Amino acid sequence: MINLILFGPPGSGKGTQSELLAKKYGLVHLSTGDVLRREIENKSKIGKQVKDYLKNGHLVPDDLVLEVLNNEIHNNGKAKGIIFDGFPRTVHQAEKLRGILEHENVSVSAFIALEADDEELLNRLLLRGIRENRIDDTASTIKNRIEVYKEKTLPLKEFYKDRLKYTSIDGMQSIEEVFDDISEILNILVSDERLAEI
Ligand code: AMP
Repeated sequence: MINLILFGPPGSGKGTQSELLAKKYGLVHLSTGDVLRREIENKSKIGKQVKDYLKNGHLVPDDLVLEVLNNEIHNNGKAKGIIFDGFPRTVHQAEKLRGILEHENVSVSAFIALEADDEELLNRLLLRGIRENRIDDTASTIKNRIEVYKEKTLPLKEFYKDRLKYTSIDGMQSIEEVFDDISEILNILVSDERLAEI
């Protein structure tokens, strides 16, 4: 099973790339942000609990996100692989993910970090705010999300660097160029999987 973590600040292209990759390689795209937004739209119990966190650009508490994640992994039990988009976002979440995957006798196959500078991120997110009307793509919330990313989420790079899973990709390139760079890594993972099956 291929478990790919697509990592990067808000606006770095994780969602766009995950969708393209999921289609090309037949993997499940698991975006915790998308699942949380769906819960909010459905006005579910969990949706009501998380709404203010998303609106203000704060991280949803780990126990709630982990509940959502466990459900999604459980519902996709037969998946050939999962692209994690927006999860993990804290070292604690990364440790929990390791435990969940170990339980299934699998592990994180690769951690790919998309890099882009703050000005580009801000511009992309403001544009998306106009296009998609997302509650958290407003100027003040965007700045907060980038700060939260730097403080709480960036330390994850060291976590995965220590475990030799880490690759960095220039997220300022075109969508096609980023896709080609990630595909190179996924092609290797896919052929390793095939070899393991022989
Ligand atoms: P995203 O769509 O990944 O940018 O996520 C949108 C918002 O959902 C974030 O700003 C957080 O409020 C919440 N969220 C998504 N994933 C997580 C996570 N792994 N941990 C905590 N909060 C999350």
